[in-house]
Amino acid sequence: MPDIAAPATPGGGPWEGGAGGLVGLGVSQGRAAGPVIRLADPPELPAPRTVTDPGAEAATVAKALEAVAAELNRRALAAGGEAAEILEALAMIAEDPVLLEEAERLTAGGADAAHALDAAFSGHREALAQLGGYLAERAADLDDLKHRAVASALGLPMPGLPSPGHPYVLVATDLSPADTAGLGGDVLALVTERGGPTSHTAILARARGLPAVVACAGVTGLADGTVIGVDGGTGEIAIGLSERETAEVARTEAARRARLRTSRGPGRTADGHAVKLLLNIGSAEDLAPHDPEPASGGTSAEQTGGAEAGVGGTGAEGVGLFRTEFLFLDRRQPPSFEEQVTAYAEVFGRAEHVIVRTLDAGTDKPLPFLGLPQEQNPALGVRGLRVDRLLPEVLDTQLDAIAEAARRAGAEPWVMAPMVTTVGEASDFARRARAKGIAHVGVMVEVPAAALRAGRLLQEVDFLSIGTNDLAQYTFAADRQHSALADLLDPRQPALLELIALCAEAGRQAGKPVGVCGEAAGDPLLAPLLVGLGVTSLSMAAVCVPAVREALAGLTLDECRERARAALE
Ligand code: PEP
Ligand code: MG
Repeated sequence: MPDIAAPATPGGGPWEGGAGGLVGLGVSQGRAAGPVIRLADPPELPAPRTVTDPGAEAATVAKALEAVAAELNRRALAAGGEAAEILEALAMIAEDPVLLEEAERLTAGGADAAHALDAAFSGHREALAQLGGYLAERAADLDDLKHRAVASALGLPMPGLPSPGHPYVLVATDLSPADTAGLGGDVLALVTERGGPTSHTAILARARGLPAVVACAGVTGLADGTVIGVDGGTGEIAIGLSERETAEVARTEAARRARLRTSRGPGRTADGHAVKLLLNIGSAEDLAPHDPEPASGGTSAEQTGGAEAGVGGTGAEGVGLFRTEFLFLDRRQPPSFEEQVTAYAEVFGRAEHVIVRTLDAGTDKPLPFLGLPQEQNPALGVRGLRVDRLLPEVLDTQLDAIAEAARRAGAEPWVMAPMVTTVGEASDFARRARAKGIAHVGVMVEVPAAALRAGRLLQEVDFLSIGTNDLAQYTFAADRQHSALADLLDPRQPALLELIALCAEAGRQAGKPVGVCGEAAGDPLLAPLLVGLGVTSLSMAAVCVPAVREALAGLTLDECRERARAALE
């Protein structure tokens, strides 16, 4: 077993000599060490002050708005491309003279700078919200700008992603998937106070090969600049590492990555039973045939080049889950047909076997361009395939774009829908996908109702892919992002394993593939058990492939079945 699966020895190795530690849930393998920078929370508005010099308040207002615009323009310059356009547009809102005039008018009336800014932004926000449609969607942007301006007026750090110009460990109460996707190359590791192991933020960190720890109580109490060591496997945080220890972490991490990079070959048990090892990706970048050296300490994905190295340089045999919504997380405008075709064709051109999932929007992965209404219970609401009930043209356009991309790349992608609940939904999806010329159509099993009807679903579609992250969430009625419920979400529980066994048996009877693409597939302890239950492929983040390959190679199929039996009992 490679040491990425072995527990770290507290107080031993590179952690020695730290001034103490914290523990959370390790959700993305790897170690890194560096100075903490905290993502500032939105500022609390203090009680209004009595103003004696309205002119000084007006000057503070103007300076705060200037600082917000300057910071956004600086980030735009660093980001480039489409992100730059979004950031520049936000900077222009901060520079809007109407906003400044309104805030100055409020200071002349006796408001302090922070309250004047708060009220001016809130007025602007309401006006936009009332216009509806695209402009109403921009209302949330104004909240972000307001928080920045108020923080600046109060002399507090601005909320939002820092870019200090040197490598650092990002510490936050929580991070959105869009924040995680937008992280720069100078982030060594992530540590959050909240979050669960299958949250989309954890998934994105894993896809990027970024060591990450979630549910780490007390971590936001660390001062900026404190040098910490992060173990994304065990969840341990060592505080106060010396320069020598920091360098040692970087050295051992680089050696670990180099060792894993040499692991190759298809997935097989010790007696030769084939299990396809596939990758979970969010874009063609996750398949890049290179391994850029991290800033220091190690942050890049395990990716080296060459066709013989398999997709993403991992020896994996294809893509088992292409999360297409990750391409469009921070988009305000719908991606055009042509833009979608280009993004999909790029992936089809880089891997022979690709399973594309149609857009899975909702809950912690909001896609602003869809303009979906706010919900009381988002995880139980209109998400995944259910969005089709409100916006059928979105799925039709995406299916057209996938079919066109396949033609251009000369590929035959498999296509599946997320959050399918009934046989009727599966047959409708299959009919529409096949009408576009898509030959292999499947559905994800993420809802217990679908697992219970797996045999019937397989009369409608060609394959199933079990999303254990959501299947656990819905089976155990436990929010997958909730840091206090990680034990309930543990996929080793017999109730979840029974649902997986049902699907695998239905696949065996129908002679159709049934894979697992939830995070459980990338766990070297769970993977043999899933194989023992009868699943035919395992799809995971690139960083997980070598350890899963080794775990399978160490056991016969009968031994895997024995483990599955024991776990079910
Ligand atoms: C899952 O739910 O297990 C899954 C693979 O989908 P996602 O994590 O993107 O919701
Ligand atoms: Mg899911």
